Amino acid sequence: MQVHANVLNGHAETSPTTFDSRNPATGAVLGQVYSSTREQVAAAVAAARAAQPAWAARPDSERQALLMKVAEVIKSNSEYLAHWVTREQGKPLGGVGPGQVPGARFEAWGCEVWTQVPASLELPVEVVFEDETRRDEVHLKPHGVVAAIAPWNWPLLIAIWQVIPALRMGNTVVLKPSEYTSIGTLEMVKLIAEVLPPGVINTVSGAGEVGGWLVEQPGVDKITFTGSTATGKRIAAVAAQRLISTTLELGGNDAAIVLPDADPAAIAMGLFWGAFLNMGQTCAAAKRLYVPDELHDAVVAQLKSLAEAMPMGDGLEPGTAIGPIQNRMQFDKVSRLVETAKATAGATIVCGGTPATGPGNFYPLTLVTGLKDGDALVDEEQFGPVLPIIRYRTVDEAVASANRLDVGLGASVWSPDIVRAREVASRLEAGTVWINQHGMVHPMVPFGGIKASGWGAEFGHAGLKGMARTQVISVGKG
Ligand code: NDP
Repeated sequence: MQVHANVLNGHAETSPTTFDSRNPATGAVLGQVYSSTREQVAAAVAAARAAQPAWAARPDSERQALLMKVAEVIKSNSEYLAHWVTREQGKPLGGVGPGQVPGARFEAWGCEVWTQVPASLELPVEVVFEDETRRDEVHLKPHGVVAAIAPWNWPLLIAIWQVIPALRMGNTVVLKPSEYTSIGTLEMVKLIAEVLPPGVINTVSGAGEVGGWLVEQPGVDKITFTGSTATGKRIAAVAAQRLISTTLELGGNDAAIVLPDADPAAIAMGLFWGAFLNMGQTCAAAKRLYVPDELHDAVVAQLKSLAEAMPMGDGLEPGTAIGPIQNRMQFDKVSRLVETAKATAGATIVCGGTPATGPGNFYPLTLVTGLKDGDALVDEEQFGPVLPIIRYRTVDEAVASANRLDVGLGASVWSPDIVRAREVASRLEAGTVWINQHGMVHPMVPFGGIKASGWGAEFGHAGLKGMARTQVISVGKG
């Protein structure tokens, strides 16, 4: 069985110990990954540091051209990468385009697009003031070495979201994949590293200590992390010691509010994928659905028929729409929340609710009604294939429910009346509020949370600026 190496200064780095990566659909071990030692983490940061001045000194057009080559390499290996995503992360292969299940092929395609867009955006020097006495320009400079810690839900795409804007701005990177999905991410980085100078992108891998070792390195100038709020707070505390910048995308507990004039049949498919894309293991998935009393039964019936119709299985099998939960930790968390809901007075499991037995982490799509604010499945982020549907009487009540938690990544409002939907959207405390869609991120559109969902924006010009510091050049004309 293959042991997958890290990338250190352009070469494959092995180490004394390894850990397994498993297929969540079968439980089978897919391969091993070398665990980085503390010394190797330091060496990866040192390699990034050594490579950074020359990388930053290149004309921006050269970095753009090299990143376009990265996009080409991803494209020409997209089937290989998509197969790793399905085997290791679990989402079905699916396809790209309207009507296709957005699965691993979508993820590989997204990596290509989220490389091309930051590579092609223009970032001219901004002249913020000029008169006869002075001219003031804002220049963007790289931070230096960026430590990026990527999660297991979109293991390639989120790594790309972190790495490519950092590189474009002249930073070098040390990336740590999630211990649950290291192989696919490492395979992608191996390909990327072949077209970049040595040391510009490096990886470290492991579980338990490696992320902590990485962010504590004095040679790290910026940290970008996607994962839980608890770990994000620990990372922010470490960054605060040296006052270095962080971008933290910490998930949330997105509310979707259906307004009373919505047509349940028309919105059902959008709501369904808004909640169950990637088995609900998406930072900006709809995780609490608020529905007016009068539409409650119709919305539940529509979602139930979709949930029961979606073929679940090994994502490599053609026709699979829904895969397993990625790892046992998440499977247990989802199971616990559903068991707690079952024991809650008034709750009804509309469909699903009983985990499959067997080696894979299959958990049926589950809808739960009869819950209220304060119940665990409503208040805690399930990050899995379970959706609580909560009744409301007035829109004000639904807005208050949506805003009452200490997280604010995304939210959505569903109505044919866009003016009314906008008015409700403007009252929601979330980094993004979608109208008649949910979780529809785009490489040109800034994305990031408020409250305990984190800070900093990714994507578009805002994402590039987050990977740079500003320097003002102020020219006196006297
Ligand atoms: P974590 O948030 O704990 O992230 C794990 C990653 O962070 C690993 O790479 C780990 O590496 C690293 N890490 C852990 N502690 C530190 C630290 N102190 N400093 C630096 N790096 C650290 O997520 P889990 O994967 O354990 O998932 C837990 C929950 O997070 C899930 O149940 C889900 O709710 C949420 N989540 C949210 C995601 C999102 O998209 N926002 C994505 C994935 C999960 P190491 O252990 O080697 O240090």
